[in-house]
Amino acid sequence: MKVRVRYAPSPTGLLHIGNARTAIFNYLYAKSNGGDFIIRIEDTDIKRNVVGGEQSQLDNLSWLGLDWDESPDKGGAYGPYRQLERLDLYKTYAEQLLEMGMAYKEYKEGSNKYAIRFKVPADKEYAFDDLVRGTLRFQSKEVEDWVMVKDNGIPTYNFAVVIDDHLMAITHVLRGEEHITNTPKQMMVYEAFGWDIPRFGHMTIIVNEKKKKLSKRDQSIVQFIQQYRELGYLPEALLNFISLLGWSPSINEEILSLEQIIENFDSSRLSKAPAMFDVQKLAYINKEYVKKLSHEAFVELCTPHLAKANIDISNQEWVSDLCLLLRDRTAFGAQIVTLHDEFFHEGFEIEQDAIEFLKTEPQALNVIKRFKRQLSMSSFDAADIKESIKDVGKYLDVKGKSLFMPCRIATTGMLHGPDLPKSLSLLGKKTVLNRIDKTLEILENMS
Ligand code: GLU
Repeated sequence: MKVRVRYAPSPTGLLHIGNARTAIFNYLYAKSNGGDFIIRIEDTDIKRNVVGGEQSQLDNLSWLGLDWDESPDKGGAYGPYRQLERLDLYKTYAEQLLEMGMAYKEYKEGSNKYAIRFKVPADKEYAFDDLVRGTLRFQSKEVEDWVMVKDNGIPTYNFAVVIDDHLMAITHVLRGEEHITNTPKQMMVYEAFGWDIPRFGHMTIIVNEKKKKLSKRDQSIVQFIQQYRELGYLPEALLNFISLLGWSPSINEEILSLEQIIENFDSSRLSKAPAMFDVQKLAYINKEYVKKLSHEAFVELCTPHLAKANIDISNQEWVSDLCLLLRDRTAFGAQIVTLHDEFFHEGFEIEQDAIEFLKTEPQALNVIKRFKRQLSMSSFDAADIKESIKDVGKYLDVKGKSLFMPCRIATTGMLHGPDLPKSLSLLGKKTVLNRIDKTLEILENMS
């Protein structure tokens, strides 16, 4: 039998990390078993639907690199793929259950409107072999007769999902742990109609570093795919990271392309333990992918972020050199702005460590003064600045740290940073000379 799985989002907002993971695992399950991946929109909770919700889900899934075989936008042999377009189907099946005596009407007081409740069989055990958790058992006496169709004629999730999964020939249902207790209700409907029950697999929750379940309101973690896109994360990296939330390959490798993930995907390696959302790990993985970009692609990734931060990008060569300079330290596109600002800020201060260093260097003041003199005559390209530093060294007979550190501190205020001649060339002569003057002032006030 051909494997058919589905991702069934409710169009109630942006694509969240947790939903993206559900989509990705279903996709991987389909691809690693030669099956079909279907997208169905569960829009019956009308009040919660948001305009553009469906489109944003689909856009972000394709940005992550997923594609699908059937969906509202693509169509397919099992459509329609939006629940609100399938109301007639639910009605037909609800009526059948009423006729079979397996459901009953519940009239709204003083009205001819009614809801339909499923009549839960007495004293029955519902057991299923969960792909992630093994055998799970539920007793029917713990479940009350539940509403299948509301009095406005709209089916509830637990009823519609069964009709759809059956009619769409879904073989495997991989979804979040929060649906475990819905599963016995759904099994009741399959059994009432005598339909085959798909194989279920419930994926573990995602927790933050404090082991608390990720909540959409938690501000400390960026949780929507759209936000990662806007921050300049790479889709391949995010997909790689999310696929490791609750799954691990048998090979000892974490940086995996989509092809490698599909090749190695094995649902028996889905974890029962909560998946930890490790922000540092995401940054690390993204950085690995950033490293692989060509220089041109890196510049292209960074430029919109610089522009958005009102940094002048009219000089392409300057932008290109800036990217080259900061590339090793950039984990995601927008970070280039922070790194730029750390360096190119207007106010100039000297770090305390750097001041301490200057105090221990008897030649520091002379080096800085001479450096200023050399720089004022320099053409200010990186090679020329490098020469200037050398000339200072020769003239004063100082070498190594005693030479380089005063030059760096007087122009950047810091002990560490990217390649100095290149950095200074990008900063420009006027800024650099002003900084040196400021340093001299600070040093004179100290003595
Ligand atoms: N619409 C449900 C959700 O978003 C789908 C659950 C399921 O996959 O059965 O949680």
